[in-house]
Amino acid sequence: MSASDRFILRGGRVIDSRGEQRADVAVEGGVIVAIGDGLTGGRDVDASGCVVAPGFVDLHAHLREPGKEEAETIETGSRAGAKGGYTALVAMPNTDPPQDSVAVIDFVREQGKRAGLVDVVPSGCITLGRQGEALAPMAELAAAGVQIFTDDGNGVQDELLMRRAMEYGKGLGITLAQHCEVATLTKGAVMNECQCCTTLGLPGWPSLAEELMVYRDIELARITGARVHFLHLSTARSVELVRAAKRDGLPITAEVTPHHLSLDDSHLATFDTVFKVNPPLRSVADIAALRAGVLDGTIDALATDHAPHPRRDKELSLDQAPPGMLGLETALGVALGVLDVDLTHLVRIMSIHPARIAGITDRHGRDLEAGAPANLVVFDPNVTWQVDPDALASKSRNTPYRGMTLRGKVRHTIFNGTFTVCDGVAQR
Ligand SMILES: [Zn+2]
Repeated sequence: MSASDRFILRGGRVIDSRGEQRADVAVEGGVIVAIGDGLTGGRDVDASGCVVAPGFVDLHAHLREPGKEEAETIETGSRAGAKGGYTALVAMPNTDPPQDSVAVIDFVREQGKRAGLVDVVPSGCITLGRQGEALAPMAELAAAGVQIFTDDGNGVQDELLMRRAMEYGKGLGITLAQHCEVATLTKGAVMNECQCCTTLGLPGWPSLAEELMVYRDIELARITGARVHFLHLSTARSVELVRAAKRDGLPITAEVTPHHLSLDDSHLATFDTVFKVNPPLRSVADIAALRAGVLDGTIDALATDHAPHPRRDKELSLDQAPPGMLGLETALGVALGVLDVDLTHLVRIMSIHPARIAGITDRHGRDLEAGAPANLVVFDPNVTWQVDPDALASKSRNTPYRGMTLRGKVRHTIFNGTFTVCDGVAQR
């Protein structure tokens, strides 16, 4: 079926920023052409029992291309995204070469277009080579359309450099996304600093390493007025700091990953490297605080930190193996399983808010009305399924949810009016 064909998503629960309504949605020529009861004309697509919503937007996907195509390519990552209900992915900049030049940004964007399964939105580095020593050409990158800057994988350690980045960022109208980790506090760290890390003999990763940088950047945002987004927050105190900053009216946003909401640090007792991640899995109390932060709006977005690694790398010992987990294809099911949220709030944190933070509300996270681009997800919030790593579209297999039963699955994903996923099956 081509983008010009007309079809009707029939009988679903339409959810967007205005709430929920029961309606059919007619799509033609890549856009929504009508919404209402008893629409006719074109192919009927069953959406009964399903939520019909603006497609999900992931603020945090490691697509590994260029440089580590053995783990993932922009095409396989895009397909994993589509299967997870995503229509846009912000591509993290820790590629090889890193996304600190217009040439690499253009390459990532072009590969995204070539795959044609989601909008691939490249982030730009804050510092050259993510080395934390000199600023990347932020103005040039912003002129090339980059709206979100991060050294993800590293936090920017130098306070003065970060202050300068925020001053430029404020002027350019872009968002700075920080990976909060004070590196001197995490040297050699493997798992959350807790009771059992000593018992297990694994070097501890203190919460303070994250919280110090959250605190610093809140204060830098206060004096510069820059928009700051906190990536993958993992501790109770981080949530509290962001809550207070928002109370002060600062332009701060924050995300949390499905794994930090669902898995605690006791999983490291298995010594299975699939549970090694940066920041590390935290305590049960941290998980409760993160969930509460999502529910009260302190945390704006769910972001996957999808981090594919080839088997060879994850077969190393815990201290040698790279941190990271897959996330795109399981995010919805994990979120529905652990978050006691209504579906309108779920659509906010998976689509509407991340689209705003990424600066792509012209095409994503929009209300479903005539004229809006048809970037949509249709998901069944009640169906259960079992995670089979070999059935994933990602090129890697490092999911921590192997064999687990999740509730909630994508039935269709529609990108630019075309099905990238139909009845749960990737179309290309
Ligand atoms: Zn990170």
